[in-house]
Amino acid sequence: MPKLRKQSALQRQRIMRQHLHSYRERNLNDDRLRNSQQLATRRQDPEYRENERERDRAAHSTRRQAVNYRSAEQERDILAHSILRMNSSYRATEQARDALAHANRRMDPTYREEEQQRDTLAHSVRRMDPTYREEEQQRDTVAHSMRRRDPTYREEEQERNTLAHSIHRMNATFREGEQERDTVARSVRRMDPTYREEEQQRDTLAHSIRRMDPTYREEEQQRDTLSHSIRRMDPSYREEEQQRDTLAHSIRRMDPTYREEEQQRDTLVHSIRRMDPAYRGEERERDSLARSIRRQNEEYRQVERERDTAMHRVRRRNPVFRIMEQERNTSARRVTRQVAMQMQEAENRMRSCRVLIHRMNPTNRENINMRQALRSSARRRNLSPDSRSQQQIQDTLRCRARIISNFCNIIKSGPTEVCICCGGLWFVTQIKTLRKTFVLQKYPNLSTVFFLSDQFPSDNDIYKFCNTCHKIINAGKVPSMCLSEGLHFPAIPSELQGLTSLEESVL
Ligand SMILES: [Zn+2]
Repeated sequence: MPKLRKQSALQRQRIMRQHLHSYRERNLNDDRLRNSQQLATRRQDPEYRENERERDRAAHSTRRQAVNYRSAEQERDILAHSILRMNSSYRATEQARDALAHANRRMDPTYREEEQQRDTLAHSVRRMDPTYREEEQQRDTVAHSMRRRDPTYREEEQERNTLAHSIHRMNATFREGEQERDTVARSVRRMDPTYREEEQQRDTLAHSIRRMDPTYREEEQQRDTLSHSIRRMDPSYREEEQQRDTLAHSIRRMDPTYREEEQQRDTLVHSIRRMDPAYRGEERERDSLARSIRRQNEEYRQVERERDTAMHRVRRRNPVFRIMEQERNTSARRVTRQVAMQMQEAENRMRSCRVLIHRMNPTNRENINMRQALRSSARRRNLSPDSRSQQQIQDTLRCRARIISNFCNIIKSGPTEVCICCGGLWFVTQIKTLRKTFVLQKYPNLSTVFFLSDQFPSDNDIYKFCNTCHKIINAGKVPSMCLSEGLHFPAIPSELQGLTSLEESVL
């Protein structure tokens, strides 16, 4: 038997706890059930419940101050929450609750602002992840394309974009950057032949539409003309242009239709230009020069002759051409004859003039007369008496015929000259002239002898008089038959007016 020793209070307390523990181990369920029943009973008292909750809250907050406890609790909560969320009805309820709470919170502007800042920050952080960025862009693109299917939205969007763009463009820097971007983008796009072709078609169509406006067309032509004239100032450009034109022209000329039209055009233009005599003359000179240069080549000359002969032979087979050629030849011969005749006449006239001039010299004239007299006397000395008398008769007849011929020539046109002193009608050979200034200077009192000078005015101050009047005036007297001596005609009655001076004198 073990020796009983007096136990201390601490030992007794430990033993008692061990007994209680072993008892609890043995009667676990009974004990818990009893406790639960006691607790449930006590909890039916609201006051106890309230106190218990306060105790729990206080105990909980105390426990939470420990970091380990807190993290463990959170893990537990997350786990429990995720389990709860597996229930769809719970999830829906929770979302509704959250949405309501969020909406309530958002009514506070301060909260709203903070939330936006948070969201912006979070978003920018998320965007740092390229994968997230790409997915977001895809989402945005899809959403945008969906929205764009609505024409109203599309229209509004375009208006917004246009407005925003026009505002941006007011900034010169933006404008410059935009132009550079556009230029680069266009040059990149243009590397694609398909795009290039479509663009050209678009441009061509738009240009042709714009060109339907006459004003635009005119302005465009002026612009083109100006720029072309500026470019042409560069000799190298001019040369290249000419080469291009020549090449293009030679290609076009390969088409027989084009060639024919071109020839018709050229012929028409040439015929119009030829209407200008100056152009015609220059053209002839050019042609003559070119032909004379070509003809200096003997081979060319020979070929030309053969060609001409052959062509002439062919042409002559045509009867009409033959007749025309004969007419031409006849006409040419006639012209040649006329020219020769005119030259001969001119030469004769020159010779006559020379003879006249020679004869006007008194010495020459005397020599000629002397020679003629010598010749005549020599001829007469050699004649027989009968022949001499016959010759004298013939000379007399010839002299008479000459006098009659001269007389006939003179009176053929009748007495046509008027003496301005006596008013008489005279033949040309019966008229002498006086200079009025000279007469009046010598005899100032003879002004009346120029009685008809108003009717027969003279441009050179020279007036015509009959032999009688001329002789008397030269003696410084007024002729007795002068019209100023009361012999002038009375005033012409109305029925005789309109007669010529000659007719009046006849009356
Ligand atoms: Zn007279």
